[in-house]
Amino acid sequence: MDYQKILDTIYDEISYRDVTGKVASYIPELAKVDRRKFGMHVYCGDEQHFSFGDSTELFSIQSISKVFTLAMAMRLMGEHLWDRVSVEPSGDPFNSLTQLEYESGIPRNPFINAGALVISDILVDQLDDPKQELLDFVRHITGDPSIDYDKTVAASEKSTGYRNIALVNYIKALGNIKCDVEPIVDFYFHQCSLAMSCEQLSKAFMIFANKGKILSTGEKILKPKTVKRINALMQTCGFYDEAGEFSFQVGLPGKSGVGGGIVAIHPDNYSVAVWSPILNEKGNSELGMKALERFTTLSGVSVF
Ligand code: GLN
Repeated sequence: MDYQKILDTIYDEISYRDVTGKVASYIPELAKVDRRKFGMHVYCGDEQHFSFGDSTELFSIQSISKVFTLAMAMRLMGEHLWDRVSVEPSGDPFNSLTQLEYESGIPRNPFINAGALVISDILVDQLDDPKQELLDFVRHITGDPSIDYDKTVAASEKSTGYRNIALVNYIKALGNIKCDVEPIVDFYFHQCSLAMSCEQLSKAFMIFANKGKILSTGEKILKPKTVKRINALMQTCGFYDEAGEFSFQVGLPGKSGVGGGIVAIHPDNYSVAVWSPILNEKGNSELGMKALERFTTLSGVSVF
């Protein structure tokens, strides 16, 4: 498969001019990002990777980080994790405050904010230095020690993060949060501020395409069963109330973030990351989804 040719075709065919959405502004720092940015990177093997555009530029990965923290929580808790968070699509926006009360504070899935905040609680509760351990995990799976938090973005989200703070308080009132609110949201705002490029993200996500093994070293970092569960959750819940549309258009398990990134994988085959900060109404990258639709259509390789 000539993936570079497919990427070149996509880069020729579509650009920011073809979409009408808006760059996220509820996190003030994200509003400053240039709407013309567009990059894509595909990893198939250690030496086989392909790209176009702004594929090495760092951006805020936001909710894509929820896949890393879920992997860490599954390593700590195994199947007991599902006592604290459910595995059903919510059909609601990522920041929804609903569907918690009648389930005793059990969020519908780990990728809506409510679920990710329960995962943050678990990591803050069980790890000595959760921020450092998350950095170590991401640096380890990419083999790239330069990856770091963007403290300005974390502080920016903290300054307007009342909804997430409300969510933690609400879930705590319902009995499904153990730690204090402050360290949980501090960890969560930091995980969302991780700054990575399409190249780094697609490399990191090869563990989910590769049955839990790190691409360059072959080290087994997650059990195949854990990877199966995470990929199933990306397929059904990775795009919130647009998970059906993403499956329909693209046909891959994946995860988006309001920084405009999307990463998707094809088991045993490839990992692909795309970035364009222009979001549709569901908070997913509008151009990114178009690019991935072209990618699986032109290559003929989706999970369906
Ligand atoms: N940090 C963002 C928030 O909590 C992440 C949301 C997202 O990327 N969908 O609102």
